Amino acid sequence: MAAHQVAVVGGGLAGLSAALELRRLGVEAEVFERSRLLGGKVTSYRVGDTEIDNGQHVYLGCFTEFRDFVATLGLSAQLRLQERFEVLLLRRGAAPCRLRAANWPAPWHLLPALVGHRHLSWPARLQIAWTIARARGMEHAPGTCADWLARQRQSEAARRFFWEPFLVPALNAPLEAASAEAARFVLATAFAGSRQSACIGFANVPLARIAEAAANQIGQVYCRMPVASIWEQDGIVRGIRLADGRTLPYDGVVLAVPPRALARLLRDPSRYGVAGLGAFHPQPIVDVHLWFDRADLAFDFAAVLDSPLQWVFQKAPGYLCCSLSAANGLVERPSAELVTLCRRELAAALPALASARLLRALVTRDPEATYVPAPGLRRPGPATAYPNLAIAGAWTNTGWLSTMESAVRSGRAAARWIVQGGMRHAR
Ligand SMILES: Cc1cc2nc3c(=O)[nH]c(=O)nc-3n(C[C@H](O)[C@H](O)[C@H](O)COP(=O)(O)OP(=O)(O)OC[C@H]3O[C@@H](n4cnc5c(N)ncnc54)[C@H](O)[C@@H]3O)c2cc1C
Repeated sequence: MAAHQVAVVGGGLAGLSAALELRRLGVEAEVFERSRLLGGKVTSYRVGDTEIDNGQHVYLGCFTEFRDFVATLGLSAQLRLQERFEVLLLRRGAAPCRLRAANWPAPWHLLPALVGHRHLSWPARLQIAWTIARARGMEHAPGTCADWLARQRQSEAARRFFWEPFLVPALNAPLEAASAEAARFVLATAFAGSRQSACIGFANVPLARIAEAAANQIGQVYCRMPVASIWEQDGIVRGIRLADGRTLPYDGVVLAVPPRALARLLRDPSRYGVAGLGAFHPQPIVDVHLWFDRADLAFDFAAVLDSPLQWVFQKAPGYLCCSLSAANGLVERPSAELVTLCRRELAAALPALASARLLRALVTRDPEATYVPAPGLRRPGPATAYPNLAIAGAWTNTGWLSTMESAVRSGRAAARWIVQGGMRHAR
């Protein structure tokens, strides 16, 4: 088996985890990445004397494969995970309040957190608790998330002060566009899964450290090396064609790229048994990075209610990163406008910041951060019509939303599929 070699196209978390899994299974893997940076969406780069993340990333306690991936890289100590679910809620013109879970069995551990939600009436808090508890026992939720919440008799206040701040960033989509099933999955897996599953975690180091650690274990990783197409002959996938014209032979190929890039690579996806790539609609995320002279706001992160800026993270004393999910109406706005918007929203919710001086600001945006989990969307799995060609990516059918967890799961599944099925046929 060690003589086999697989080319992995794409150096995001899906490609890197595919390569590591292949190596674990005794197969050599080489990674080809188009960009100068590794990690895909989970990366960071220097701007002046600061290294900034491509966008704030959080993970949850229920991200078991992502956490295992990070552990195999020896980076667990560089990531921080809450011991219990706890979120600070900020709201314009109101005192902050804190949702704090108890040390009780799920889903009852969240009851004290909901009790602490002072911006909601008691009936609204009970309705939310009931919906979360029911999500766990439900098989499937039809229709859109907005329709589903309406069917659960959720009030307008519950939607504005609970469901939007939690579900819109989790789904990275407006509630009218996302499927009820995706929302049900979030509730059942994160909120009602176990005591730890909704705990929030983030990296204490710039995100690029994750991909760098993976690359060190993989060995053969080529950046600035775009792949143009699959090299196929006599009905067998023989390797890859680079954009510079070179043809490289491999026993197997894993394509770990986003859906549009996959369509370009395959040219005629249906010939490879891959269908429906046109149904993936990208959703942007915008991050506004602000450096203030006033340091230490005494929180790591907070949800901002009733605001286009859904979450704010204090990454270092005085350095705030504002995260704007489902940012379709914002992604193309000029940076100065986005900075003004975030400053205004923060000052309204955090009076301590109103008189702080802004030292520096920067906007990062990714128009294709994730894909709308629309009702009925069919996501392909790792298999293709060719036994030694697999696909991976957070957007593929892992059962999870387009997240870091899904990326790792997809890469590992593609590696296993290719080792079990494919390479026998390639020889
Ligand atoms: C701003 C932002 C915030 C996010 N926040 C979170 C979060 O909080 N929690 C969470 O879990 N997820 C979050 N996500 C989503 C998460 O980052 C992605 O779902 C995941 O990282 C995707 O990994 P991937 O490997 O499937 O794809 P990608 O990261 O897109 O990697 C694909 C790689 O393929 C390369 N490539 C494309 N075409 C070619 C080619 N022809 N040849 C060679 N290489 C090619 C690309 O350059 C890229 O590096 C966020 C995403 C963004 C953008």
